[in-house]
Amino acid sequence: MLQPLQLLQPTTVGDASRALAEFGDRAKVYAGGAELLLLLRNGLLDAEVLVDLKKIDRLHSVKFESGLLRIGACVTHRELADHALLRQHAPALTYAESQVANIRVRNQGTLGGNLAFNDPHSDPGTVLLIHNSSVAIGNDKGEQRIGLAEFFVDMYATALGSGDLLLEIEVPALPDGMKSAYQRLHRYQRPTLGVAAAVQLDGDKIAKVRLAVGCVGPKAQRLSELEGKLRGVTLADARKIMAQEKKYLRELLRPVDDLLGSAEYKLYMTGVMLGDVVEEASATLED
Ligand SMILES: Cc1cc2nc3c(=O)[nH]c(=O)nc-3n(C[C@H](O)[C@H](O)[C@H](O)COP(=O)(O)OP(=O)(O)OC[C@H]3O[C@@H](n4cnc5c(N)ncnc54)[C@H](O)[C@@H]3O)c2cc1C
Repeated sequence: MLQPLQLLQPTTVGDASRALAEFGDRAKVYAGGAELLLLLRNGLLDAEVLVDLKKIDRLHSVKFESGLLRIGACVTHRELADHALLRQHAPALTYAESQVANIRVRNQGTLGGNLAFNDPHSDPGTVLLIHNSSVAIGNDKGEQRIGLAEFFVDMYATALGSGDLLLEIEVPALPDGMKSAYQRLHRYQRPTLGVAAAVQLDGDKIAKVRLAVGCVGPKAQRLSELEGKLRGVTLADARKIMAQEKKYLRELLRPVDDLLGSAEYKLYMTGVMLGDVVEEASATLED
């Protein structure tokens, strides 16, 4: 059962941040509530005050300016899965958003809530990493921007400090000639594994590649070292290299045995699906 809660609905970032400072640990940021209300209902979190961000207009906008998609933190997964600007400038993100959970969660949950919660079994963060995305964090004193890789600190931990709000996600369009894809493996609603790739070919060789993996370890990660080994090789050779990189993937991703599968299974599938997603991104180049 949920205890009665006081609901504050500030209309500016400054007011929201001041409310968080005033109530301290007794207050929680509330966006869609898909995660937060579950935690409160199950007694995993305590709160007396919810600071609802949905009345802050700027957190609902989606714009494309100077090669950059700017997505407000309170835009829902469903809005993003249907958004023309996303389809045009970040199609793999459109696909990832369309795969989140089910229509109820996509209607309710926001991209900002997803990233701020940083559940390891999430979809959008993995694609956002191959776009070299950044986030804007703000409070009543100002704003700063940091890379998403730096924002994701660990499982359920981010660079947000107390009183901080995640305001905006900045997603640079991929360089001309580079195409992307996202694939996920799931047994339940939340993904067991998510892989994202952006690829540019030069003839039959890989000229540029970006790779990211989510869900296997505590947080979504770019695979920068592996990217370096794929430049200048054919797709067939890239697939072999990725399947052989178990040691590197194990050390970077730190997989664990859990209800979704054994660590060995997840590592094996990561190698296979990285090959698949690189191939899918490359096939998109011929469209
Ligand atoms: C049944 C189920 C299945 C799911 N399946 C998937 C899936 O397949 N893929 C996937 O990616 N996700 C999945 N999710 C997670 C879902 O996408 C996220 O729960 C949702 O996006 C969270 O957004 P929200 O707006 O509801 O966040 P809330 O529940 O409102 O908040 C989540 C947390 O983030 C904090 N917070 C929210 N917004 C901000 C902000 N702007 N600044 C600072 N802190 C903030 C809150 O205080 C809270 O701690 C699933 C969730 C459920 C319940």
